[in-house]
Amino acid sequence: MSLLPVETALAKIFERIPAPQPEMVALPEANGRVLLEPLLARHNQPPFNASAMDGYAVRAEDFAEGASTSVRLVGTSQAGSAYSGTLNSGEAIRIFTGAPVPEGADTILIQENARVREGDSIEALQAVDAGRHIRRAGLDFAEGDIVLEQGRVLDPAALSLAASAGHATLPVVHSPLIAIISTGDELVPPGVAPGPNQIVASNNFGIAALAQRDGARILDLGIVPDDREAFAAAVRRAREAGADILVTLGGASVGDRDITRDVLAAEGMTLSFWKIAMRPGKPLIFGRFSGTSVLGLPGNPVSSMVCAHVFLSPLVRRLAGRIHAPDLRPAELGAAMPANDSRRDYVRASVALGPRGLVATPFPLQDSSMLSVLAAANALIIRAPNAPAAEIGDRCQVLMLR
Ligand code: AMP
Ligand code: MG
Repeated sequence: MSLLPVETALAKIFERIPAPQPEMVALPEANGRVLLEPLLARHNQPPFNASAMDGYAVRAEDFAEGASTSVRLVGTSQAGSAYSGTLNSGEAIRIFTGAPVPEGADTILIQENARVREGDSIEALQAVDAGRHIRRAGLDFAEGDIVLEQGRVLDPAALSLAASAGHATLPVVHSPLIAIISTGDELVPPGVAPGPNQIVASNNFGIAALAQRDGARILDLGIVPDDREAFAAAVRRAREAGADILVTLGGASVGDRDITRDVLAAEGMTLSFWKIAMRPGKPLIFGRFSGTSVLGLPGNPVSSMVCAHVFLSPLVRRLAGRIHAPDLRPAELGAAMPANDSRRDYVRASVALGPRGLVATPFPLQDSSMLSVLAAANALIIRAPNAPAAEIGDRCQVLMLR
């Protein structure tokens, strides 16, 4: 199989994955989901004219004569229990924040500006204007208003608004479940001191975080040795769990222990492609089981993360109903770069603002095992296949990572 250009590979992925799936979920589960329909308010908010302050509900005209006026306290309106009568001229109602403003009252004399004499005589210490400190019914939204647009990613404020508008469940896009299998005889989890010949498995954490940021749920199936039976069992677990995407880490190349592709095929996966014309990350597998897409990422930590940015992110976002808009920007090179070969290169770089715009400076070390370099990079310089050698100041394109 020849090396596939990145864009062709992405197009093949999009051809083969299902459309975003609708579902109804309870509010707490809707966090980060995409709203499928415009959301209409079920009632006015506030539902009644409500006081915005603690004080006294009064009629402004009663105070037209100035400071000497006093009105008589005749009742109380609390949040949750309104004053049932109508306020007449010469009367005041004790009122608290959020409580219904009684009929007849047209303003709130706030507590700080009121003086109480003889228990039930209220004087104003300042001029009293009509309409102050009252939240009119429907101020926030009215029944039938569209409070959230279709396609909105339900962020914290949107969730509170949906609740306020009377919705306990929401129609959203299913959040894809991503199962992750780390493969390698040499791997131990972080926190365990690696023995001779062992290294710490790291990729799964970054991949999981990226997928979660894009709207996925994660099922980390842990580390399996380079053993056909063990790997096959983990693949079955992922499918039984209903994973929308299975991400395998490692074992995708041509070494003796690179069993990933073989076992996936034996388990019934239809291979779509293997090997991409990119660096890092050439040995990348994409295929489908019925109901589960498989993305086999290379084991090298930087390769797997770059491939996740380039392939997993768009895939997850598509299933999650989100728009995929990678943050691509023009920049100028801060260092010379050699001619590229026939693979698209994603070069770890630091991008900063210079006098003429963004300047992208590649890190001198680009080894695909170096997470320290990836973590220091805030961007990848994208070098086209067969790009000629470039000088300082030449134009380039960068993919911002953060
Ligand atoms: P592989 O793709 O399995 O040949 O692995 C390539 C390199 O990446 C080897 O040096 C592995 O030890 C390393 N590697 C594989 N899986 C992981 C992982 N989950 N975390 C960190 N390094 C890994
Ligand atoms: Mg391996």
